[in-house]
Amino acid sequence: MFNRSRQDLACWFTLSMGSILIIFAGVLYFLEAKDQVQAFDRRLYDICQFMAAGVEDGNYQDRRRVDLENVPILGSDALPLSTTLVFARWYSPERELIQFSGDIPPQRLESKLGFQTLVEGDRELAFLQSYTSTVPFVRLRQLTLPVLQNGVLIGFLQVAMPLTPVENDLWQLRLFLVVGVPVALGAIALTGWFLGGLAMQPIRQSYSQLQRFTADASHELRAPLAAIVNHAHVGLMSPAEPQEQQFRLEKIVKGAESMGKLVGDLLFLARNEGRLAPGSLQSVDVVQVLRSLLNEFRHQAAIKDITLVADLPDQPLLLKAEPDLLRQAIANLLSNALRYTPDGGTVTVKACLRSQRAIMQITDSGVGIADSDLPHIFERFYRADKVRSRHTGGFGLGLAIVQQIVEAHAGKITVTSQLDQGSTFQIELPLLAKLTAS
Ligand code: ADP
Repeated sequence: MFNRSRQDLACWFTLSMGSILIIFAGVLYFLEAKDQVQAFDRRLYDICQFMAAGVEDGNYQDRRRVDLENVPILGSDALPLSTTLVFARWYSPERELIQFSGDIPPQRLESKLGFQTLVEGDRELAFLQSYTSTVPFVRLRQLTLPVLQNGVLIGFLQVAMPLTPVENDLWQLRLFLVVGVPVALGAIALTGWFLGGLAMQPIRQSYSQLQRFTADASHELRAPLAAIVNHAHVGLMSPAEPQEQQFRLEKIVKGAESMGKLVGDLLFLARNEGRLAPGSLQSVDVVQVLRSLLNEFRHQAAIKDITLVADLPDQPLLLKAEPDLLRQAIANLLSNALRYTPDGGTVTVKACLRSQRAIMQITDSGVGIADSDLPHIFERFYRADKVRSRHTGGFGLGLAIVQQIVEAHAGKITVTSQLDQGSTFQIELPLLAKLTAS
C-alpha cells in the first residue's frame, strides 16, 4: 500500500515538475531564439545603414541602369560590402535595379520592405540558387530599406546575410535541451521517489502506531470482557448459592467498570488531542487546585498509611489553563504516586515559580522506574511492570493523558526516578502573563 502511494507520489511529482521543466525549456529556447534574431537583425540593419550613407553621398544615385559587365563583386570598392553579406542591391525609387553586388538579382524589386527570412521554397531564394552555386542551401535574412535624402526617396537598398551563425547557436541550444531535459527528468523522477519515501515516513509511522493502538486497545478490552462473559455464563448455567451469585455479579460489575474506564480514557485521549480552543482557557490558581486534590486523595493515602506532604507557596500561582484538564493531569500523577508507593511511604506535592513558569512536582518514595522504561512510560498502553500495573488497575494510559494535557497547555513534563527509591514527576507550565504574551 505504501509503495504504491510512494510510486504515485513520485509519478505526480515527475509529471508536474517535468511539465514545468519542459515549458521552461520551451520558453527559454523561444526567448533565446528571439534574442539571437534581434541581435542579428540589428547587425544587418547597421550594415545597411552604413551602406545607405554611402549612397546618400552621391556615389550611386545617378546610376539608373545595371551594368552587367561590371557587376560589383563582394568586397570590391564599388560597394562597401561587408564580407558577411550574400548580396547587396541598389534599386531606383521606381524599383528598377541599378546596381548590385553578389549574385544576379531580379530586375525589379518585388520584395516587401523591412526584414524577411528567405527559406527553402521561397521564390527569391530559389531564384538566387538557380543563378549560382555560391549561395549555399541556407536560410537568409534579407533587409530591404528605402533610402531617403532630404526627405526625398532616392532608392531602395536590399542586403542579405545567411542565418547560419544564429542557426548554429540555436542548434547547440536544442542539442543541450534534447540531452539535458531527459537527464533532468530522470533526476526529477529519482528525487520524486526519494521525497515520496520521506513523505510516506510519518504516514507509515502513524499507521503502525494506529495499528498498535487498535491492537492494544482490543487486547485490553478483551480481558474484562472475557471475565464478564464467563461469570455471566456460569451464573446462568447452574442455580448457584446467593453468595456465589453475589461474587459473580461483583466480578461482572468490576469488569464492566474496568471497560468503562478504558473506553473513557480512550475517548478522552481522542477528544483532547491537539491544541486547546483559546476560549476554553481560564485563569487558574495552581495552588488551589493542588490543595483541593490533596484533600481528595487524603482518604486513599490514609488507607495505605501514606504520608501526604504539601510544600505549597502561600500566594496564588495563576495560570491560563483549562481547569478540568489541569486537574485531571495532576490527579493522574497523584493517583500513580499513591498506587506505586508501598504502605507507609511518603508522597510530596510541591509547587513553585521559576523563570516565569509554574513548577509542580509530585514525589513519591515508591517502587521507582527502571532506566530502560523511563523513555517509554508516556507511550499509550506502556506499563513498566505489567503484572504490578494490571494488579493496580492501570491500562498504561494515565501518563499519556497527562502528557497530552501538559503539551496542549504549551508545557513540559519530565520524570526522574530510581528503582526502589521513588520517582519525581514535574510539570512546567507557562504563567498567565507569559502565555498571554505569546
Ligand atoms: P498505569 O495506568 O498503568 O499506571 P500510566 O500511564 O499512568 O499507566 O503509567 C505507565 C507506567 O509507568 C505504569 O505502568 C508504571 O509502571 C509506571 N509508573 C507511572 N507512575 C509511576 C510512579 N509514580 N512510580 C513508579 N512507576 C510509575
